[in-house]
Amino acid sequence: MDVASNAAKHEQKEVGTAIPDGINAWVFDLDNTLYPAECHLFRQIDANMALFIQRLLSLPADKARALQKHYYVKYGTTLSGLMREHGVQPAEFMSFVHDIDLSAVPENPRLAEYIAALPGQKSIFTNGSVAHAENVIGKIGLSGLFDNIFDIEAADFTPKPHHNAYRHFLARTNIDPQNAIMFEDLADNLAVPHALGMTTVLICSNARWMDDEPVDKRPATGDMKAHLEHEHIHHVTDDITSFLGDIVRTLTSTPTIGAAI
Ligand SMILES: [Mg+2]
Repeated sequence: MDVASNAAKHEQKEVGTAIPDGINAWVFDLDNTLYPAECHLFRQIDANMALFIQRLLSLPADKARALQKHYYVKYGTTLSGLMREHGVQPAEFMSFVHDIDLSAVPENPRLAEYIAALPGQKSIFTNGSVAHAENVIGKIGLSGLFDNIFDIEAADFTPKPHHNAYRHFLARTNIDPQNAIMFEDLADNLAVPHALGMTTVLICSNARWMDDEPVDKRPATGDMKAHLEHEHIHHVTDDITSFLGDIVRTLTSTPTIGAAI
């Protein structure tokens, strides 16, 4: 499917859950998507990245943080920059930055119930690590609900939103993008899925971000309807749990006789 026809498929856009028929693959980003951005878990990871660079290169804190954001913008992740420019081993970096306190992440039994009820294949597609994903979904109460956890290592350290990350993901999972829906808090990460024919859902929050966070790398905030002006955003919600609950109710409701005729 080309971009124009996928746009036509979703031309009746709204803040709501009228997803196309035939979805059988559910693809979830992890951080700030499966738990609320307001937990500010990323702040802990962010601070650990700066500390890692500070120690690695014996830099003062402000210089380390500036370099961290420079690599993030230039290479897509801080890790990619550290691997390319400093030969950092990814496992060492990952275990250091993901050593965080998960107590702010709320358990979400309703989300678990709805994800369990979705028909078809369920995947996590994250620029983080499998270990981090397993820790976080364990805290939320989602362990065992996903068929795949596809991480930055599986993507050969090519992060979203790079096209190759999605190619690796689709090859690994055997998902047909035209029957897939992807949930993400970073609008940029939905551009390629849209181009591939996937349905896209942007997760919005009211979280506040550090002033030096690159603007186009911040999770979506603000007026939800404004995001729909972008062709690659098909749906927007600030409550993934209710959004999935509506989908599950729609999928499991018995058609009326009138609808059958
Ligand atoms: Mg995210």
